[in-house]
Amino acid sequence: AAKRLADKVIFITGASSGIGQATAREFASAANGQIKLVLSARRLDRLKSLSDELTSSYKNISVYYNVLDVSKIASIPVFIDSLPSEFKEIDILINNAGKAIGVDKVGSIKQDDINDMFQTNVLGMIQVVQSILPGMIERKRGDIVQLGSIAGREPYPGGAIYCATKHSLRAFTSALRKEVVNSPVRIIEIQPGAVETEFSKVRYYGDEKAAKKVYEGGEPLVAEDIAELIVFSCSRRANTVIAETLVFPTCQA
Ligand code: NDP
Repeated sequence: AAKRLADKVIFITGASSGIGQATAREFASAANGQIKLVLSARRLDRLKSLSDELTSSYKNISVYYNVLDVSKIASIPVFIDSLPSEFKEIDILINNAGKAIGVDKVGSIKQDDINDMFQTNVLGMIQVVQSILPGMIERKRGDIVQLGSIAGREPYPGGAIYCATKHSLRAFTSALRKEVVNSPVRIIEIQPGAVETEFSKVRYYGDEKAAKKVYEGGEPLVAEDIAELIVFSCSRRANTVIAETLVFPTCQA
């Protein structure tokens, strides 16, 4: 893995917590620091601590971090265009920023929450690909890892909007994979079940107690489980596409 990842520029959205943060750590560890990481999210302080942690753990790692709110669509190409030259040629995109907000049934879902989920999980996700894919095609290399979900395959009550966003992601991602067929660009979708991160806290508007309750009676996955799968998928032989991975804990089916 270390050899295949060496010197890659890896761009992560939503790197300030959960799966994104664990993926940054996992790439750094798998490549023994021999990578260039671009970390983005809205919380700059979190990105700074992660960057400090990685640069003090690996002497050869390069890290650039900055605020990117993917729900602000117009800011995405600006962010990509203004990357320092050493980080401009992105080899691996981890299109991870995303959220579920609320557990309301259709009819009482808040319009602001619908907008935020679609802006972030769908419109932002698409614009990130739009801004990065042409460079990958031109350079004839690149991996795009899309954070889908079990919710993108099996809708459930109380999650109509989130499920609709992840179904959108899956449809977009499959079409994209077909469009780049016969090019060296790989389109990889990871579809996790329950993973204990800040995801649940965001879903319950910051209510930690309600967030914790979700995991009672079963042991969820941890962010590192997903990070390992992402790094595994990106470090296969160049001709191998791990197209879709559905992964959940033993308490789910
Ligand atoms: P977390 O809440 O821990 O992390 C979400 C990340 O997304 C944070 O870094 C957050 O950073 C970032 N984010 C949220 N909104 C925006 C925005 N508008 N612009 C940029 N970044 C944003 O959750 P997870 O790590 O669990 O979630 C990561 C992905 O995995 C999501 O796409 C989620 O849908 C998916 N997933 C999660 C599952 C789970 O059970 N945890 C299951 C299946 C899929 P900040 O707030 O600093 O911007």
